[in-house]
Amino acid sequence: MSTPALRLLSLGAGVQSTVLALMACTGELPGLDGAIFADTGWEPARVYAHLDRLTGEFDRAGIPLYRVGNGNLRTDSLDPAHRFVSVPYFTQSPTGQRGMARRQCTSEYKLVPINRKVRELLGAKPPRLRTVPKGRVAEQWIGFSTDEISRVNDRPTNRYTLKRYPLLELGLSRKDCERWLKLRGWGETAKSSCIGCPFHGNAHWRDMRDHHPTEWADAVDFDHAIRTGGHRDGVPGLRGQAFLHSSRLPLDAAPIDRVTSREWADRQLDIFDELTEQGDPDGCSPYGCRSNNPAPFPQSTKEAA
Ligand code: SF4
Repeated sequence: MSTPALRLLSLGAGVQSTVLALMACTGELPGLDGAIFADTGWEPARVYAHLDRLTGEFDRAGIPLYRVGNGNLRTDSLDPAHRFVSVPYFTQSPTGQRGMARRQCTSEYKLVPINRKVRELLGAKPPRLRTVPKGRVAEQWIGFSTDEISRVNDRPTNRYTLKRYPLLELGLSRKDCERWLKLRGWGETAKSSCIGCPFHGNAHWRDMRDHHPTEWADAVDFDHAIRTGGHRDGVPGLRGQAFLHSSRLPLDAAPIDRVTSREWADRQLDIFDELTEQGDPDGCSPYGCRSNNPAPFPQSTKEAA
């Protein structure tokens, strides 16, 4: 692969990528040419506030921060005129068979707009921004920490991106990153993920219900609206129901007060985390999709055919 023309940070705005961002802004990690944040349009207000604060740091350092997106995940999911958005809902067929819908939202709302921006920065021509000039490559910093070594995949994603994992090179774990942030006044860094992401665990839902009632009401409303798969008018071909909570009960009736043994052990609590040792770096990373489970029943007309 060619020598990188650019160094770009994939900024999820969670713990690990915030450390990389601040290290780049202070010069501790030199040479960053830009950071890219992919916005699903449905992050909690505190994530956007955190991003605004980070923007100030980037501005002071003279490093551009690009906010990109591919629509509003919440709005699109409920828009009958929009094509089906595949969110990893918990599903239950009429015969009681349980499953999970495919997770394509991360790719569609994060990876696709990030890659489009990378191609643009590398010189792809508008309006389609499809083709990167030959030999142009971007080094892309990804915030996986040492506890996530199993998630590192060095297979090239495309011919214009060279993945790099600075936290691994520095030997920093997620806990190290949390300590690093706390010492510098960034200890309140939250995970970034959609308000109504089905990957939230009970602790996350409880925190939302008890401390962020507007978000909770939003998630409950959304949960009721997706029962037929995402469109208020129903998705032709869908058999069964979809839910945000793994109990396959409406969110406002789900047993979110159940404290798991994992919680007692002060471990990470989200499904994100149950599937890995220490949890997702940014709540929802475009580079570590962990939902490969096909839905047990058709999700759309096309799949039902
Ligand atoms: S946070 Fe959840 S709903 Fe949002 S893009 Fe990621 S997986 Fe999809």
